[in-house]
Parts: sequence; structure tokens; C-alpha cells
Amino acid sequence: MKVLVPVKRVIDYNVKVRVKGDGTGVETANVKMSMNPFDEIGIEEALRIREAGAADEVIAVSIGVKQCQETIRTALAMGADRGVLVETDDNAEPLAVAKILKAVIEKEGPEVVILGKQAIDDDSNQTGQMLSALLGWSQATFASKIELGDGTANITREVDGGLETIKVKLPVVVTTDLRLNEPRYASLPNIMKAKKKPIDVMTPADLGVDMTPRLETLTVVEPPKREGGGKVESVQELVEKLRTEAKVI
Ligand code: AMP
Repeated sequence: MKVLVPVKRVIDYNVKVRVKGDGTGVETANVKMSMNPFDEIGIEEALRIREAGAADEVIAVSIGVKQCQETIRTALAMGADRGVLVETDDNAEPLAVAKILKAVIEKEGPEVVILGKQAIDDDSNQTGQMLSALLGWSQATFASKIELGDGTANITREVDGGLETIKVKLPVVVTTDLRLNEPRYASLPNIMKAKKKPIDVMTPADLGVDMTPRLETLTVVEPPKREGGGKVESVQELVEKLRTEAKVI
């Protein structure tokens, strides 16, 4: 059984994101890029499934510019067996990503696909849902526990107010929540080994996917700057300020 994990290259979560001067997007030149944190959780879960003997191969797939190879190498260094890079300089919107993943999945034939619940750059939270709809597969989003059975899986989901466990038929598209696991660090020997693992490179056109954008970004702005605080002399003054300036009471 194969497990396929899409891994997105995003601005590292420690970087303070800056909006471009012309408001068309965010600055990515000379900015540290990393694997989307929810996708690290996806790779970790796939490795645990393989280590438990329920899968024999973990495939990491990334869609985007040439440098996405580095993101795939990180997945290989964590322990994934091989990678697929679908190389494009075009902006890959969730629907285009889902179509590309569908084509890769039809070639590879995995039983379980584990995506992140969202990419921390666009916060779309759409790709997993679109992919399961395109494939006509079961869907289990925001997973915090995955138990594979014979042709089925019990998946615990983080929902408002608690946890919900559902039973789904395989094949399934799962999206990871933060509490599913704690991803491992790649060890130095594994980083060296990862350099020899294979990465297949193809383009959206090879997979018959049209990348024409359907979304138009009108403008991107920075959040308003926080204003400095002030001191009040009395509770009465505080209440007055809350009423007149903050208008919260
Ligand atoms: P989103 O729907 O954009 O919030 O992304 C959800 C998940 O879809 C991510 O955590 C990834 O697992 C996957 N994904 C989205 N875009 C890409 C991409 N360009 N390459 C690989 N995986 C992606």
C-alpha cells in the first residue's frame, strides 16, 4: 500500500511577512522558505503508517517552482521513499493543485493521501476537500488520529467543541490537524541518504492540467500597526477610556 503526501513550499513560519510595495502580494525574494508545517505532520503520519507495517511506500509530491525540490528533499530526509515534483512557475491555485494531484494519484495508485488542513501562506483550506471531490474518494479533514483497518479507517477529527470519530472506506483523502503527531527531525545520515533518493520531475502540461488562474487578487495590505499603550491613574479613568476611546463597553 502506498501513502502519498503533498508538501507545499511556503515562507517559513518564523519569518515576518512583508507586503510588496505595489500591494500585489508578499515579498518572497531572499526569504527563508520551508515545508508547510501541516505537511510535515502529514509526512510524519505516513512514516508511522509505514513503520507499523500498513504501508510499504511513502511518496512526497510538490507543485511549484524548481526550488520545491528542497521541500521534497526535506520529506525524503525525514524518511519518505521518493518524490514527485510537478514543476511550474505559474501560481498554483488550490483547484489547479487538486487537479494535478488527482493526475499524479491516478498514476501512482495510493490508498491514503494525507494533506495539510491548510497551507500557512494562503490559508485556503480547500485543496484536500477539492481533491476528494474530484477523485470521488472518502474525505476526513482536520484529523488528530488515524487508525487504519481492513479496507477502512477510523479517523478522529477536531471539530468545534470536541472530537468526532468517523469510519471511512479506503481510499481516503485525509487532512492533518496540529495535534495528529509531532514530526521528527531529519538525522544527518538520513539527510545524506535523501540525496540519493529519486525525484520524478514533470509539468502540469504532461499531466494535462490547465493552470489558467480563476482567482484574481485585488489587493494585499499589511494588518494595521499596533499603537502604543498608555497608563491610567484610576479604575474610573480606565472605565471611561474603555467607554469613549475603545468603545468596548
Ligand atoms: P490549501 O488548500 O492551499 O490551504 O492547502 C492545503 C494542503 O494542500 C497543503 O497543506 C498541502 O498538503 C496541499 N498543497 C497545497 N498547495 C500545494 C502545492 N503547491 N504543492 C503541494 N501540496 C500542496
